Amino acid sequence: FDMFFLAFVERLFRPTFKKDDFVLGKKLGEGAFGVVYRASLTKKPSSKVPYQKEGDLVLKKATEYGAVEIWMNERVRRACANSCADFVHGFLENSSKKGAEYWLIWRYEGEATLYDLMQSKEFPYNVETMIVKEVQDLPRGLERENRIIQTIMRQLLFALDGLHSTGIVHRDIKPQNIIFSEGSRTFKIIDLGAAADLRVGINYIPKEFLLDPRYAAPEQYIMSTQTPSAPSAPVATALSPVLWQMNLPDRFDIYSTGLIFLQMAFSGLRSDSALIQFNRQLKRCDYDLNAWRKSVEPRASSDLRKGFELLDLDGGIGWELLTSMVRYKAGQRISAKGGLANPYFDREGLLVLSLMQ
Ligand code: ADP
Ligand code: MG
Repeated sequence: FDMFFLAFVERLFRPTFKKDDFVLGKKLGEGAFGVVYRASLTKKPSSKVPYQKEGDLVLKKATEYGAVEIWMNERVRRACANSCADFVHGFLENSSKKGAEYWLIWRYEGEATLYDLMQSKEFPYNVETMIVKEVQDLPRGLERENRIIQTIMRQLLFALDGLHSTGIVHRDIKPQNIIFSEGSRTFKIIDLGAAADLRVGINYIPKEFLLDPRYAAPEQYIMSTQTPSAPSAPVATALSPVLWQMNLPDRFDIYSTGLIFLQMAFSGLRSDSALIQFNRQLKRCDYDLNAWRKSVEPRASSDLRKGFELLDLDGGIGWELLTSMVRYKAGQRISAKGGLANPYFDREGLLVLSLMQ
């Protein structure tokens, strides 16, 4: 079977929806390219349709970029469903007044994004109670915080590895676009509005203006400017594995994920203004984290010192992982898969093994 046949069959058996099937609830977010609501199904179409409880769904009304977002979500659902929020359906809604509008529907995964959770003074303990059934008997302190952050990082890299293995670069990885799925007790990626699929050349020309400067890697363009723009699909399919190897566009997301790691470790860097200031300092250090550390450590606040201490645990493997993600040159950054194999996660692995025995 080829991919297209499978996609066709999958579509045949999946319920489809139209505008009248939904009733909108609370507004969850509003960006430049769409508005997001909590939503419910108006009627109960058939017993086969899940998501029938009130507020079970999330609905995005998007502008023209919605077409790409639908395409990305359908691809994710077939190739790496666990990486992202469960996508239900997407369609073009031609309302006469506003012109074309794309509607995208997902399962409502839960109320908190990683951003929301990180704003709490309790972070990361507020996450611990969500991820694990029994709270660790370790006393509160660096060791325990480090284990929780490890678990979150492992989940993020796992989700990212799924996307990257599928050929998708997200390009807007940030805590606001990571949702905690209450059903699976894991973090999932949302908001594929700025994503690029390099295998088939969809959204091939990077829309730089879509990138969030707070989390964007220093390279302005994901692919080198010499790469032909928007090649036809068959050509792109044949060429892109090579292009992927040459340009390593996935490492853009790795940089952003590294900044999230940084913000989790350093409570003082969680606010927007602190992150912007950090970005300025890092740029002045030519994006060399070790140089940044040397410049700030002598007069570091207790918040900063605590972050360094956390990353220095177990011989500094956390700091090692962080510096392998946040690097100027994309080619020197670790991949998502490589990150998962990093010693930082070894202890987790040992823990799982000991539980299985
Ligand atoms: P935007 O383009 O506005 O950034 P997002 O797709 O990031 O759109 O969604 C906006 C907000 O809506 C998210 O930050 C999150 O709070 C909420 N949200 C989006 N998708 C889901 C989902 N599947 N489940 C729960 N909340 C969601
Ligand atoms: Mg978003």
